[in-house]
Amino acid sequence: MRVGIIGAGPAGLMAAISAADKGWQVSLIEQNKDIGCKLLISGGGRCNITNTLFGPEFLERFREYGRFFKPAFMSFSNEDAIRFFEENGLALKEEDGRIFPASGKAKDVVDFFRQQIAKRSISTLLGNRVYSLEKEGDMFVVYLRGMGPLTFDRLIVATGGASFSSKCCTDGRSFDLLRKMGHTITELIPHLCSLNTEEDLVSLKGITIKDVVLRHTCPLHKLVERGSIIFTHDGISGPAVHNISRFLLTCRGTLNIDLLPSLDFERLREKVVGLFQDHPKRSLRNIVNKILPDALIVFLLASLDLPLNKKVTNLSRSEVHRLVSGIKFFPLKIASGPPLEWAFVTHGGVDVREVNPNTIESRIVKGMYFAGEVLEPSGPTGGFNIQFALSTGFLAGQLR
Ligand SMILES: Cc1cc2nc3c(=O)[nH]c(=O)nc-3n(C[C@H](O)[C@H](O)[C@H](O)COP(=O)(O)OP(=O)(O)OC[C@H]3O[C@@H](n4cnc5c(N)ncnc54)[C@H](O)[C@@H]3O)c2cc1C
Repeated sequence: MRVGIIGAGPAGLMAAISAADKGWQVSLIEQNKDIGCKLLISGGGRCNITNTLFGPEFLERFREYGRFFKPAFMSFSNEDAIRFFEENGLALKEEDGRIFPASGKAKDVVDFFRQQIAKRSISTLLGNRVYSLEKEGDMFVVYLRGMGPLTFDRLIVATGGASFSSKCCTDGRSFDLLRKMGHTITELIPHLCSLNTEEDLVSLKGITIKDVVLRHTCPLHKLVERGSIIFTHDGISGPAVHNISRFLLTCRGTLNIDLLPSLDFERLREKVVGLFQDHPKRSLRNIVNKILPDALIVFLLASLDLPLNKKVTNLSRSEVHRLVSGIKFFPLKIASGPPLEWAFVTHGGVDVREVNPNTIESRIVKGMYFAGEVLEPSGPTGGFNIQFALSTGFLAGQLR
């Protein structure tokens, strides 16, 4: 059986290996001059391949798509991925659950795939963009820039999302090919990105807070995300923000930040009152900067209408309450996100309702399979997206 795979990112590469190991004749088609463009820039050039999170918790990180992802993950889990890399000669290392190549070089992951592809004599057509697709009877006809059409019995589409096109040519044009084949492409939303706020946060630029809890509620969801946050010149960034960015861009509204989640409201109130009692003659600013960065206090106190230099002994009970509430529920209004191009991942793509999760085969076009970011789901930071590409690639390559 002849299998065509479009796209040589982690999804297409894994699909090619999986299909070749089944004994099928595989052709891997890639528009770039080399394989794995996005792998090379992943993880800041270190490529965070996967995460050690235990299975059910791993799937939970995909939120509403956990059920869709489960069969693919079960067929090639994070443990399978780690075993696959190590047994085939790529040494790995772990940092807080995140798995990287031991060398710290993404290039070694790309070279690893290059060797695996060569070992299986998979035909690789580099620098060949697929500009049109057709199905004639049971066969797929694939039209390439620069050479005549190719025919395949099965087709695996692993063309990625629509982000970082300037670096990797993943501009989302391939979604049009799938629309023409009858597939629905859900709205493409930037994910794993910084957000702009309505508030002017320029005075907070560069401040990092390692542990915050973000809370956001809208008719579509109720989110709670814990992690670190960085204030930028026009908004907020950092892993906690990235992980829920697609939701915030869908619903906007107010994001509440708990700036000191290690203390609940009452314990924080007691701590603040204790500090006031120990230093009654100090100003509010001088006391609160024992627990928060000074620039943030200036911003916070102004937004709470509390005078910076007021002596703490002169604060009323309601002012203390307002201060503690401001720290536990620091509100910011989400204004906008970056263009898709700047987001690490595209959320949205081939509608999962049109794909059988047990096989990753299209329910619309028989014999056509999908893998990776071309599909609607997206995961958080920490190696989840590459694992999604590897798992769906592996399952697609089985051509069940
Ligand atoms: C800067 C950055 C850092 C990241 N870091 C991490 C990380 O550390 N860990 C993690 O898990 N995820 C990370 N991600 C996300 C991760 O890289 C992607 O989710 C993953 O690469 C998706 O794999 P894929 O194979 O589905 O798509 P891609 O890797 O995008 O590959 C798709 C391929 O298809 C090719 N293609 C598209 N259309 C055609 C066509 N018509 N004809 C021929 N070829 C075509 C493209 O050229 C591309 O090579 C990062 C992303 C970015 C942008």
